[in-house]
Amino acid sequence: MKSVTGIGGLVEAVRAAGIIGAGGAGFPTHAKLAAAVDTVIVNGAECEPLMFGDQLVMESRADALITGMSLVMDDMQTRLGKPVRGVICVKKKYKTAISAIQSEISGCDNLEILELDNIYPSGDEQYLVFEATGRIVPEGGIPPMVGALVMNVTTLVQVADASEGAPVTGRLMTLGGVVERPQVAYVPVGARFGEIVRAMGPAVDDYTLLVNGPMMGRLTDDMDDVTTKTMGGLFVLPKEHSHVRRMRRPLSTEIRLSRSACEVCRYCTDYCPRFLQGHSLEPHRVMRVINYDRDLDTRTITSAWLCCECGVCDLWACPMSLSPRVIFREFKRRLKDAGVKNPHLQSELTPDARRKFRSVPTDRLVPRLGLAGLDRRPPYNPNPPDISGVCVKLDQHIGAPATPVVRAGDKVRLGDLVADIPENSLGARYHASITGEVASVDDNGIVIRGAAS
Ligand code: SF4
Ligand code: SF4
Repeated sequence: MKSVTGIGGLVEAVRAAGIIGAGGAGFPTHAKLAAAVDTVIVNGAECEPLMFGDQLVMESRADALITGMSLVMDDMQTRLGKPVRGVICVKKKYKTAISAIQSEISGCDNLEILELDNIYPSGDEQYLVFEATGRIVPEGGIPPMVGALVMNVTTLVQVADASEGAPVTGRLMTLGGVVERPQVAYVPVGARFGEIVRAMGPAVDDYTLLVNGPMMGRLTDDMDDVTTKTMGGLFVLPKEHSHVRRMRRPLSTEIRLSRSACEVCRYCTDYCPRFLQGHSLEPHRVMRVINYDRDLDTRTITSAWLCCECGVCDLWACPMSLSPRVIFREFKRRLKDAGVKNPHLQSELTPDARRKFRSVPTDRLVPRLGLAGLDRRPPYNPNPPDISGVCVKLDQHIGAPATPVVRAGDKVRLGDLVADIPENSLGARYHASITGEVASVDDNGIVIRGAAS
């Protein structure tokens, strides 16, 4: 176990390294570490189909994972003045990862492994908090409100690296789909999709790109788009693939289909992970609003704030393939524009008694998405894709965009600071992810041309 530099030392090292949550929305980790909790939970579920990077991280860097976790727990323990429990949540089927972690934690009384079933969305932090502690995160709340902190495995490895002075400049990503050379490889932050796709070798002519998995990811055709610190996967899919067409269905079509096909069977509600946790989210009611202009009470509409957009309702539960999720997304957009905040804040919650029997088995979900042939772990490629340049975006995190500290023409080396946190703001720092010359600096980011290009 390492010691950074006493109280505040870990937070400062993490801030300096530019760490943001690697598995989620990109909340700055140094700010997250300010919480005072009695349980630290490691998210090693990697529940999005097609993704394998975290699994490889747990197998190959279990020592760094446990170092990162111990640093966080030590820091927390010192501030709290009482013992902190650590729970490492890993899918039961990741046997190699489990044995690698087991050998690292033998003799640590406060660390334990919680083996998870292969279900979706087992990586949802509210699901993990309940499984690990039996506590339910309040509506509209976050895990520290019930004394828990959930951290992704890649984030914790970055914490260990930060304690040695290494900033975040890239990460392991799954590069796959319908390609000649699927792989798990290290990719620098800001790499152009076009260059990564060339390294994979698309096996179809007319394709689109899936960023970060088929359940909660997004599609893009923009080959100039770039990787971020929160990106774990990039996949090539044929444009005509059924899942691509499903993801591209416009809102107007969703509404029209809903009006003609919704049976108000309520399967979407019965399988919704938030409903099953006791939150007042009932997607079938929102469909009634759309379909029959009924239940137009404010609380039904504002319940959209409780939807985590996991995709269980539309991609698993609905027999008519309708999407309450898309409707909720639109409601959220309109509520935000109108300045309406979430009024649902209940904290006295009881999980639904049928919760255990309403899990979504990933083995059956993947074929339903039409992706069965692609959900195989690709080999690790120790030679990262050939990247000629990067564009380090300044707003990969939640908070104020970073302020550039370099100018066009500056020479930078891998790991040099290129953008800092604006004063008195929540934010994150960014570092050069390759060695080269700064080609341009603007609101889109910092473009660095590689030394060899
Ligand atoms: S599951 Fe589908 S058909 Fe049933 S209520 Fe929900 S949206 Fe309507
Ligand atoms: S996407 Fe659907 S299943 Fe998931 S939280 Fe939202 S309403 Fe519930």
